[in-house]
Amino acid sequence: MSSLQVTRGTRDITAPEIYYWQQLETTARQILQQAAYTEIRTPIFEATELFSRGIGEATDIVGKEMYTFNDRGDRSLTLRPEGTAGVARSYIENGLFAQGGVQRLWYMGAMFRYERPQAGRQRQFHQLGVEVLGSADARADAEAIAIASDFLQALGLTDLVVDLNSVGSAEDRVNYRQALVDYFTPFIDDLDADSRDRLTRNPLRILDSKDKRTQEICQDAPSILDYLSTDSQEHFAKVQLLLSDLQISYRLNPRLVRGLDYYTRTAFEIQSTALGAQSAVCGGGRYDRLIAELGGADVPAVGWAIGLERLVILLQQIATAPKANVDFYIVSRGEAAEIKSLAIAQILRKAGFVTELDITGSKFDKQLKRASNAEAKAAIIIGDAEIAAAQVQIKWLATGDQEAIAIADLVTHLQSN
Ligand code: ATP
Ligand code: MG
Repeated sequence: MSSLQVTRGTRDITAPEIYYWQQLETTARQILQQAAYTEIRTPIFEATELFSRGIGEATDIVGKEMYTFNDRGDRSLTLRPEGTAGVARSYIENGLFAQGGVQRLWYMGAMFRYERPQAGRQRQFHQLGVEVLGSADARADAEAIAIASDFLQALGLTDLVVDLNSVGSAEDRVNYRQALVDYFTPFIDDLDADSRDRLTRNPLRILDSKDKRTQEICQDAPSILDYLSTDSQEHFAKVQLLLSDLQISYRLNPRLVRGLDYYTRTAFEIQSTALGAQSAVCGGGRYDRLIAELGGADVPAVGWAIGLERLVILLQQIATAPKANVDFYIVSRGEAAEIKSLAIAQILRKAGFVTELDITGSKFDKQLKRASNAEAKAAIIIGDAEIAAAQVQIKWLATGDQEAIAIADLVTHLQSN
């Protein structure tokens, strides 16, 4: 039988890499809790219609990246390709709007897109995201960007730039769309196939093309900034003012349009110069039309999602792997000692010490070798002689010093060392 392997585009996350993930998750929780954001967990699969309506039929995600299948009851379901649509559905379904005020939510979890796997691009990947629902205020946009920036900084990541744009309102885009069609039509034969297709369906997204020739053509395309209404201009100016006030540097990028149809006004990405081709670590923006589009009230909102695989790649570049730290490593031999060893491990754990118990039954020197590999502070040695005396030996691994301590005094003794 051929051996089973992990599916293409997915991977196992094992030690030591897992410690980077844990570090990242802990930092995320701290930063988000500090800003009074509440976690939300939505299902991994949803009705396909949620994504086709919420993300847009003309997007790459809906057009070619979704994991869609019929379940045994013949419902069309899709593994979530992103987090916003599910949060929006939940917001509507649970009547969070009726609670009034602003809802600040965050999520973290696996997303699924059928893409060509490469460094920093997988079929199952993970995102951390926030959604601020119920505010059209520019402070919501700036706060969201500030929190993303705080998080990345708390991880020690530098070499990051915020690309900022406004894609205006749906009305602003009517004229802009026409200007783009007029501009691109003479180049139609030079555009890549996807872009040619987008010319009629969604010309804005041609600006998002990764094709070299198309990108060249985009250089001289009309700028959305010339098509913004006064309201959109004011909003955009205010976001910039707030970011400057927070000393968050950004660069204006009028070509930044984002892949999803529901964005309005602010669009932004955070890019890392240390990532090569997959350089975007964070993408987000305002989506004032989504909740209504999905059948809810007219609720303005803004959010972002950070790709965690890409952050882990960056963390691996700047820091050595964080480790699981073991305080004490218990070695034991002999029937009575082995029985007592588990109880002692549990006592130390309850006292707050990270305690690993060797249950191999191998010779003392082998067990002690593992204690030192685990980089424990001390090995707690229990043999039949120790049990007979109701004692253990503590061997401090840094110095090699060894001492005998009554089991009854062990915790107090370790706490004072
Ligand atoms: P890209 O242009 O790289 O495909 P995107 O615009 O499709 O990105 P978003 O939908 O905005 O990405 O998702 C937000 C973030 O999630 C991205 O900036 C990226 O860090 C991460 N991401 C998106 N797709 C993948 C993937 N297939 N594998 C790993 N990370 C991903
Ligand atoms: Mg993509």
